[in-house]
Amino acid sequence: MRIGLYPGTFDPITLGHVDIIRRSCALVDCLVIGVAINRDKGPLFNLDERVAMIKAEAAQLGLATDTKIKVHPFENLLIDCARDVGASIILRGLRAVSDFEYEYQMVGMNRQLDATIETVFLMAEAQHQAIASKLVKEICRLGGDVSKFVTPAVEAALKDRLNA
Ligand code: ADP
Repeated sequence: MRIGLYPGTFDPITLGHVDIIRRSCALVDCLVIGVAINRDKGPLFNLDERVAMIKAEAAQLGLATDTKIKVHPFENLLIDCARDVGASIILRGLRAVSDFEYEYQMVGMNRQLDATIETVFLMAEAQHQAIASKLVKEICRLGGDVSKFVTPAVEAALKDRLNA
């Protein structure tokens, strides 16, 4: 059984993330969505809130795939998290050239920590490629329409949190 780990902050989960999750499901038998606690990033939604939002989206996605989707919060090293959940591949999304440099370094270092775990990069569909949680929060905070970037449930949670 091939297990994949898709790690991120998901603050909050966007249609870009959903796109990558859907694509990842075609590659693995079990997809573990690793939710980084990331206190340093000062997330808008706490871990429980982010996990609940991802679980709701995963439940929808799970109906359309045989792949088992799990949600797993983690605070340790990514490579240790991958080992903990038995993942043989780490899935990451690539948006722009700007993502590349960071990801390139991460792969290089993770490979030295554990050469048996492969990292696979996926690109979302064109209309989802530019979506970033950070910008979605900014647009919503300033009263913009985020309905093209997140699901209705996440949009409601954002408006509620930001009083938008
Ligand atoms: P991180 O803090 O790890 O960057 P994010 O939640 O921002 O966490 O992103 C998690 C993963 O999803 C990363 O690999 C990121 O590149 C990818 N991702 C986020 N948004 C998109 C998108 N619109 N298209 C493709 N990949 C994306």
